[in-house]
Order: sequence, then structure tokens, then C-alpha cells
Amino acid sequence: MNAPATVEARTDQGGRSETWTIRRLLSWTSDYFGRHQVIDARLASEVLLAHAAQCRRIDLYTRFDSILEPERVECFRGWVRRASAHEPIAYLVGQKEFFSLSFKVTPDVLIPRAETETLVECVLDHCGKAGLTHPQLLDLGTGSGCLAIAALVHLPAATAVATDVSAAALEVARFNAARHGVSDRLTFVEADRLALPAEVVPEGGFDILMCNPPYIPASTMDKLDAAVRDYEPSLALTDGAEGLSFYRTIAADGAELLAADAMIFVEIGDGQAQAVVEVMTAAGNFEHRQTRKDRVVGQERVLAFTMKRAADGSDGKG
Ligand code: GLN
Repeated sequence: MNAPATVEARTDQGGRSETWTIRRLLSWTSDYFGRHQVIDARLASEVLLAHAAQCRRIDLYTRFDSILEPERVECFRGWVRRASAHEPIAYLVGQKEFFSLSFKVTPDVLIPRAETETLVECVLDHCGKAGLTHPQLLDLGTGSGCLAIAALVHLPAATAVATDVSAAALEVARFNAARHGVSDRLTFVEADRLALPAEVVPEGGFDILMCNPPYIPASTMDKLDAAVRDYEPSLALTDGAEGLSFYRTIAADGAELLAADAMIFVEIGDGQAQAVVEVMTAAGNFEHRQTRKDRVVGQERVLAFTMKRAADGSDGKG
């Protein structure tokens, strides 16, 4: 068992604490972060301090008058310095919560966003409605693995293939799959976009393709928050063009990999819905079915497509 990282604060004779209690550290750091434009200053302070004190964030509140051991204060100070220079909190603590699951993150992977939970909700809703008990999922550009892993945790008989062009990202995703007990149902493939080896494609095709692609237009990268632009992998943020090229790839090559009644769920950036619908339907393989807003910022966030059925009732693959 770890030694406790906090001890009770001693008070001076006047009863006033001159030491850095949890309470003082939190209030000082929140103010400091506020002055340095760190996003969600109070939350950021709590996450870092809980990590330094090796406790849950909620436990800070029961230890308000405790003091942190000096070596922990040193660690905390270092992280505060780095966070105030906009290094993402999730990279500093090496974790991010997504869909109520804790994911390991490193600078090799995009930090899972709360908005992206919408995509998992779409997948789970669809499987429920369509009565898919053993769906076979494809996650294109998996990064930390958050989409595929969250879906598998909630679909206990599903299997998935997750691809990424980055071997370093796949290593993180493999760790996360093991952490959440889904490694035996999840196959990772180092592949560029949809260039999958035939042996990982299920007979009859995948039932669901999900993808949170790098959709930020290259021309707007410099407008991103410094924490995103300077620290997250640009490979996961932008395609170096207008942010639509992954949708083009899916539109052109997706149908070959999918079952006739498959669904495609893609995340989109702000204001991209119309452009993505156009790109996805241009080749004539897919039809737009649904647009879902996220609950975080209320933007159109996920588009759903189905395979277009040919007039003769075939799936149009031939
Ligand atoms: N949603 C991320 C952001 O706003 C971008 C992720 C992506 O390009 N898929 O920074």
C-alpha cells in the first residue's frame, strides 16, 4: 500500500495555517491558471492536485486541511508550470476519462473529447434498435482506442478491428484494450486509412464503421487553442488539406468492407455537415440517414450513413 501523500496540517499558535494545505494549493493554482488562460482553471487544478496527492478528485474535498508531502508539492509545481504553458492536463497526468472509462493518453494520441462520446452513443443506440447482438465493428484511425473500446465494453458480444497509421498510437490503444478487458475481441492493424489486410475483414463485411478523422482544415490549424495545436498529434487533427479527405476515402473504398445493411458513423467538425454529406454521397455508395448534435457544445457532431440500395434490391456492391 502507498504511504498517504497528505498529512494533517499543523496550525500556528493563532490557529492559522501557514502551510500549503490542499485548500490553499487549489485556490492559488486556480487563480494562477485563470491568469494564464488555462482552460477550465479550477477543474485543471483539481485534476493535477488529485494526481499529485494520488487520490480521486472528489477526495480532495475531504482533505482540504491536509498538507501535501514536500516531494509531491515539487511534482505538482512542475506540472503547474507546464500546464500554464498550455501543455494539456491529460498528457501531464497520462489519463483521460471517456464514456466513464479511464484511458491512458500520451502525446502520440488525440485526447478523447467529451463531444466524441456522441459517436459511441450513436453506435450503441443503433445496435440496440437493430437488435445487433454480435456486431462486427471497424474503427478507422483509432488513436487511444477510445471509440472501439467504449463500444466493446458496452456490447459484450461484439468484435472490432481498429486501425491506425501510427504504431505509437496503437501501442497506447493496445494498453487501453487490455485495461478494459476487451483485447480478445479487438484486433489492431497498423494501416493507412482503409488499406486493410483481407484476413481481418469479416465474411459478409463489417456491420458498423466508425471514424473520428482528422477533420480540421489545415488553413484553420493556427486558430486552435495552443494546448491542442502545439501538443496534440497533428496527424490526428488535420489531413493537411480541407479536413475532408478521410470522408472521401470512406466514400470511395468503404463499401467494399461493409455488410449490405451496415451503418457508418463519422464525427465532423463545426459547420462541416453539409460538406461531409456531399463528399460521402458523391460516389453514390452511401445515403445520409441521421445527424446528431453533441450535448457538450450542441454542434452537429455525428453523421450516420447507410449503404445505398440499388433499384434491383442488391447492395450496389457488385
Ligand atoms: N475535436 C477535436 C478538436 O476540436 C479535433 C479532433 C479531430 O480532428 N477529429 O480539437
